[in-house]
Amino acid sequence: MSTTTQAAHESMYEAVLARLNAAAQIINLPESVTEVLRHPQKEVKVSLPIVMDNGKIQVFDGYRVVHSTHLGPSKGGIRYAMDVNEDEVRALAAWMTFKCAVADLPYGGAKGGIKCNPRQMSEGELERLSRAYAKAMKDVFGVNKDIPAPDMGTSGREMAWILDEFNKVTGEDSPGVITGKPVGLGGSLGREAATGRGVMVNALQAMAKLNIHPKSATAVVQGFGNVGSHAARLLAEQGIKIIAISDASGGYYDEKGIDIQDALNYTAKNNKSLEGYSKATKITNEELLTLKCDVLVPAALQNVISEDIAQKVNCKIIIEGANGPTYPEADPILNSKGIIVVPDILANSGGVTVSYFEWVQNKMGYYWSEEEVNQKHDEKMKTAFEKVWQNAQKYKISMRIAAYITALEKIQLGIKMKGHF
Ligand code: NAD
Repeated sequence: MSTTTQAAHESMYEAVLARLNAAAQIINLPESVTEVLRHPQKEVKVSLPIVMDNGKIQVFDGYRVVHSTHLGPSKGGIRYAMDVNEDEVRALAAWMTFKCAVADLPYGGAKGGIKCNPRQMSEGELERLSRAYAKAMKDVFGVNKDIPAPDMGTSGREMAWILDEFNKVTGEDSPGVITGKPVGLGGSLGREAATGRGVMVNALQAMAKLNIHPKSATAVVQGFGNVGSHAARLLAEQGIKIIAISDASGGYYDEKGIDIQDALNYTAKNNKSLEGYSKATKITNEELLTLKCDVLVPAALQNVISEDIAQKVNCKIIIEGANGPTYPEADPILNSKGIIVVPDILANSGGVTVSYFEWVQNKMGYYWSEEEVNQKHDEKMKTAFEKVWQNAQKYKISMRIAAYITALEKIQLGIKMKGHF
């Protein structure tokens, strides 16, 4: 293994830079632009002391990285997970820069996170932690500055607490400072399912390119949280047979197809977990990733498709619902097997696209129907897919590098026009 490969294994940010460099080389991006994009604009780390339910103080690490504001205010989710660290947040922030540019949104990229295990915390502890984070980030966030949203381990509930605390400490009343809010607090209809919806639209677009008909297609979905569960449901609604699903408790397989609504009903009553789901055969997450199917949707964690898994993957299309599910070293293997990989920065951009619609609606104070949101979303997603597909054909490269090229062509103009040299 080369040193670069090892570094990519160790650092998610190195993995971003590897892809940035590859795309930059193909389009002869000026070195000054690449250099600007290699360095996040702002990194904030805070310590958050919280009174736990047992009366003891626990101190949590909180992060926010603003990678770029060249195309507009920075946008990106907040993650609550035990493996949150500087490198991961930096990588996720950079991905947001590229994702917003691919989806043609007037935003730069950012990401935040708190190192914690939300599943082992009470609602009260989570509220105190979310409020402490919002207070610590009061000078970072802003409706025209930096706009957070949910990510792994967070949802509308946390966004509502953060919004409330932000408004309290700043004296503002700007619902658009955060997206992914509950609908009653200015959230957008369609936002909760938007990332899964984007996965579905991208899957249909890719299937059409390969002449695969949804009614005769099979799919496997890893992860049954926000992205995975909505993606599985929406793919099933298109007539695609979902032969396996999974979550942290393991994989669940049925070659005849899993009834996704039934699985959703089960998790709703089982603390959001598939643990104990008995209407399918239990398999491991590794077995799940290598099942024969048309469409594989990794929608749980980063770094799940290693070189080894890539050798064994047995699908025609991968739609990256999660951020960073594929190691850079796995890319050439998947490419040589002729698998179309719709990369994360395109495949899961449905969430930020509807977040943008939420922000627009908040600014107007006028709200759209779910149908209108979905229609606008689907249009934007299809345009983005087609642009990336065309670049892949033009440069004879993978969709991943084509997506970076699509993004860089846009960001480059922003950097040049703003004169950031
Ligand atoms: P979530 O917390 O709602 O769900 C995560 C799911 O992954 C859960 O079902 C969990 O049980 C499962 N999981 C955890 N460990 C696993 C393992 N080892 N094997 C299999 N499954 C496992 O998170 P989410 O919001 O659905 O995010 C999932 C991914 O999608 C993340 O990479 C996130 O950054 C990305 N993403 C999310 C959004 C969004 O709008 N929520 C938008 C873009 C990208």
